Amino acid sequence: MDDERGSVRSARAGVTDAPPDRARLPRSRRQAGGPALPGSSSPWILMYHSVAVEEEDPYQLTVSPERFAEQIAWLHRRGRRGVSVRELMRARAQGQDDKLVGLTFDDGYADFARYAVPILQAYGFTATAYVVADLLGQDNGWDTEGPRKKLLTVQEVTELASAGWEIGSHGLGHQALPGLPAEVLGVQTRESRRLLEEVVGGPVTGFCYPYGAVDRPAAEAVREAGYDYACAIAHSPLTGRFALPRCYVGDRDGAWRLRAKKGRHRLRDAITSLKRGRRERRP
Ligand SMILES: [Zn+2]
Repeated sequence: MDDERGSVRSARAGVTDAPPDRARLPRSRRQAGGPALPGSSSPWILMYHSVAVEEEDPYQLTVSPERFAEQIAWLHRRGRRGVSVRELMRARAQGQDDKLVGLTFDDGYADFARYAVPILQAYGFTATAYVVADLLGQDNGWDTEGPRKKLLTVQEVTELASAGWEIGSHGLGHQALPGLPAEVLGVQTRESRRLLEEVVGGPVTGFCYPYGAVDRPAAEAVREAGYDYACAIAHSPLTGRFALPRCYVGDRDGAWRLRAKKGRHRLRDAITSLKRGRRERRP
């Protein structure tokens, strides 16, 4: 795994797809993954947070609506269709995910409905929004350096879900899961799911780890809570259905950088499988 300070520094310089989320996580809570869960090579999934006009963006979470529209247009030109992770996993099970790319929006910012949805609709794309079940209608108070951003309200989440957008769980209180006691992991995964199922009026099958932070107990709690899949960020020994790696997309990402990131995803995927094979062959 990348040196943390190195990856934060290079993320600021804009030359890596190392996620800003690792920098947001308090140092004491950063933890590497444990042994692997069953899985295969990973689908390509992009990770967004906020689509908005923002002057201050210390965590590099925001993509301007203009840039976002360019990125989506680029995917479309390349013959790719952006879909929710729910749809991606279904298509994948039937071997039909070739031209698909997963689009994910963490934290459930209100600007998803305002800016991202109209652009996605124009191309017939779908996406997943991972919302913090107990903070709907509030703001991102967990990001101490700000800026404060409004989160989707209960009503907005209900409307998005009934319009076909996948709503997934981002836990409770935007807390990192690694290191939490087993009963708290149970509450984070089960209770957030129960709350959201009430709001969306149907099953919630996707989970996304706050800060992308996952270890084996967290991944197992998510599976035991009945989710179908979970999104992480980095490739790790846990990479698989309950720790899907994702590619961070920022405001500086134009066509060639997105192409490079896709190549890097494939490369990391190959390295992860190679390491896994080597580990499994060990006596
Ligand atoms: Zn988050």
